[in-house]
Amino acid sequence: MSKAAGMTQMGSAKPNAFENALEQLRIAAEYLKLEDGIHQMLAHPKSELTVSLPTKMDSGDVHVFTGYRVHYNDARGPTKGGIRYHPNVSLDEVKALAAWMTWKCSVADIPFGGAKGGIICDPKHMSQPELERMTRRYAAAIADFIGPYRDVPAPDVYTNAQVMAWIVDTYSQLKGYMVPEVITGKPIAIGGSLGRDKATGRGAVFCTVEAAKVKKMDLKKATFAVEGFGNAGANYAELLQGYGAKLTAASDSKGGVASRAGIDAAKLIAYKERTGSVVGMAGTQPISDSDLLKSEVDILCPAALENTITPDIAKGVRAKAIVECANGPTTPSSDKILDANGVFLVPDILANSGGVIVSYLEWVQNLNRLSWSEEEVNSKLETKITGAFRDVHAMATKNGTSMRTGAMMVGVGRVADAIRILGVFP
Ligand code: GLU
Repeated sequence: MSKAAGMTQMGSAKPNAFENALEQLRIAAEYLKLEDGIHQMLAHPKSELTVSLPTKMDSGDVHVFTGYRVHYNDARGPTKGGIRYHPNVSLDEVKALAAWMTWKCSVADIPFGGAKGGIICDPKHMSQPELERMTRRYAAAIADFIGPYRDVPAPDVYTNAQVMAWIVDTYSQLKGYMVPEVITGKPIAIGGSLGRDKATGRGAVFCTVEAAKVKKMDLKKATFAVEGFGNAGANYAELLQGYGAKLTAASDSKGGVASRAGIDAAKLIAYKERTGSVVGMAGTQPISDSDLLKSEVDILCPAALENTITPDIAKGVRAKAIVECANGPTTPSSDKILDANGVFLVPDILANSGGVIVSYLEWVQNLNRLSWSEEEVNSKLETKITGAFRDVHAMATKNGTSMRTGAMMVGVGRVADAIRILGVFP
């Protein structure tokens, strides 16, 4: 066992996201009876880039940020995945997120491999001009590593359409011509797709509708809680409320709010836009993160960061279903506990694939100089993600596994098929 793995087991360090990703891969490889060589290939990222980003701060000082971009596997197509700005970004986290992107694109059956990027920074304490200078320096530093047929970035935690626009502009200035198809999640004015901003939440709602059919749950009578009221979580809440379900708790990085009578998601979104947090919303009581995750609801939606459902939390989860809008919120040991307790878990690589599915639709529109209506985009998203849910559910049912392992078997299995057909160079 590696030193890092030992530390995790002793509980002296936070679970390592990449070790979690490798453990999920190991389980899938065992079920799939994967050849050792292919398992080894899938346990190693194709390439990892670390860049230093000297950035002029408003004070006049120069701060050197560290950025990453990891291409995990490209057997099924150009690599794809978002860029995260967060103080806790690390190379291992980016590697894990890039691995999950590989399986996610494969489960969704879109012709992409997986990648991810990130910068260690605290965007909440940076001005817009500082963010722009850091972003443009990062775009220049990774310009030769990305490209419409090589690696296509997108937003992730604490990045947005504006950040994508700075990246497109920097990349295009370096090329000498406009290349909208190098990135997705752009503003509509420069080739972004209608429906992309809400796609992750919307996709997760389509998965919830399918999960409700499996669990024979009436969404009109269902209650739900959202951990992480950001882009994915807030859109999920508002759209699921449209099916009659009642939001009883929500949280963000500053705290959580709860109300048994229900919280209007649209009002909570407006309140958060005004005040910067869900905390203090009228008609609610404060709730801690662990109480929210263990609250008595039908559906729990972790939509924040990795490793929030630790084994201790997992033991206390009372939800019938978990829909993972976040990437990697549940550790492998927590998976075992939830599975044993009969919690129906829709895993991240399926539940939050709506974002990358609509990214794919954006890329296709850009490459073909097309522009589809929002209805057309949403209906293509529904077809794709519902098909993916059914593939995963069929795999899980056939093998008697959890939905996580079913999804990993579908995702990893398709990448392994591609590798077998391609062969190993030279
Ligand atoms: N960051 C999102 C994810 O984790 C979207 C990635 C993309 O659209 O490429 O799936």
